[in-house]
Amino acid sequence: MIALSIAGFDPSGGAGILADVKTFQALGVYPTAVITALTAQNVKHVGGVEPVDTDFVAKQIDLVMAEEDIQYAKTGMLYSGEMVEMVARKVNEYQLKLVVDPVLVAGSGGTLSRDDLARSIKKHLLPLAKLTTPNIHEAEVLTGLEIKNEEDAANVACELGKLCPTVVTGGHLNGRDIFYENSSNGNDINFIEGEIIKTSNTHGSGCTYSSAITAYMAMGISMVESLKKASHFTKKAIENGGHGTLNQMWRQNQL
Ligand code: PLP
Repeated sequence: MIALSIAGFDPSGGAGILADVKTFQALGVYPTAVITALTAQNVKHVGGVEPVDTDFVAKQIDLVMAEEDIQYAKTGMLYSGEMVEMVARKVNEYQLKLVVDPVLVAGSGGTLSRDDLARSIKKHLLPLAKLTTPNIHEAEVLTGLEIKNEEDAANVACELGKLCPTVVTGGHLNGRDIFYENSSNGNDINFIEGEIIKTSNTHGSGCTYSSAITAYMAMGISMVESLKKASHFTKKAIENGGHGTLNQMWRQNQL
């Protein structure tokens, strides 16, 4: 099994492409990784962002795809609308089954995106995606709607669900993830139980969650089952973390 992450680099290791690679590896999926931007940051703040040239990111994707039979991919930090449009072209070209984590800001609050990013993700990437995994803040920015409670979150999931299946992650609300899929036999909403975990080790939890979903889907597991398993995996990664970062290697220690 093999999967691709197209995302930014967080040198602290808790989030971004390192979190994605650790997650794929811990779940037994061979990781490939294309870097869209370097960041200078730790868990407390983002000190700078250096986007990689879009043509060079395209070249990374082309050369990885030329050698490996990759069907499942996820996106994390894409930074600009231009990057989103290029990635959308590649997803089409290689018929990738895509999970989109619409990363806009770091957990510390530092921005990881240009102003045109949310609009571009909605227009170009979500219509191609198998799933998107916004947290509450990202879901609000993507739809322009405010989320104060679980009902609001469900409405926003329905709104984004017009573009692709959507799970609004509940870590910032009450721990429950809300999944919406506009299925052919009616409109399905599934509430997936999550647990509130009282810790500060959540830097990179969105990256870990979306990578774990991608890994489970690459193994042939259904989407709803993948969501449940990924939620459990992320909870364990948070519980085993330290210093504000996650520890995705807990599974290996148990093997
Ligand atoms: N991608 C990169 C490169 C990051 O640095 C971060 C956060 O710092 C994220 C994504 C988003 O992280 P989270 O999973 O906490 O939303």
